[in-house]
Amino acid sequence: MDLISQKIETSALQEGDHIYTWRRVKTYSHHGIFVEKDIIIHFLSTTNVAGGISSVSSFSKNALCSMSHYGVEKVAGSGIRMCCIDCFIKKGKLYRFKYEASREFLLAKLRGGTCTTATPDTPGDVIARAIYLFENGYDKYHLLKNNCEDFALYCKTGLWSTDADNKGKSSQAVMVRKADDEHGHKSKKLVKRLKNVFPKYCLKRMNNDLGNRQDVVKIDLTELLLNISYIYPETD
Ligand SMILES: [Zn+2]
Repeated sequence: MDLISQKIETSALQEGDHIYTWRRVKTYSHHGIFVEKDIIIHFLSTTNVAGGISSVSSFSKNALCSMSHYGVEKVAGSGIRMCCIDCFIKKGKLYRFKYEASREFLLAKLRGGTCTTATPDTPGDVIARAIYLFENGYDKYHLLKNNCEDFALYCKTGLWSTDADNKGKSSQAVMVRKADDEHGHKSKKLVKRLKNVFPKYCLKRMNNDLGNRQDVVKIDLTELLLNISYIYPETD
């Protein structure tokens, strides 16, 4: 149960909001940037989406939707898509990602992918980044190193990791890596786990939070694209 709920009604959305919704019964959260009215820009693994540029109605499950179910992609293979709110939420609920969260708030949220201590830029900057990347492409999708949350975090803050081996700014990725670290220690008693693992997890969570990381710097869009090595498939 969320003691500090970030649930939000669509009518309360503000331009430039970083929003998320839980997928597969709270297995993971999917993130996007609310641009305006009924437009969200989000980042999807291209392997999850059939085809390249989707036709207007090819995946539509929402009769009222003017775009495809996964959204419309401008740069083929980039995974940056524009979709409507209904298609983004599917049958889930909508939440607003919290910025400038206190240490207490961050640690109270046991699950990653909901908040950061980092400070967001203005809504105008956020929307400009999202639209620019929609129109020009973005880095290659990687579940742990560059996912939908990383995309939204960059749009909101302009922060980018300078450490190529330690990419992955999203707190969800940190959680997955933490779970890997703990693999093999499952036989330890629960009490010992709570005493030893939880404080370490909290420390790691704080140290890896975008607002506390030492390896992230603010870079503009032109510089970002120069930092990206991924070449998209050429299209006619
Ligand atoms: Zn739609």
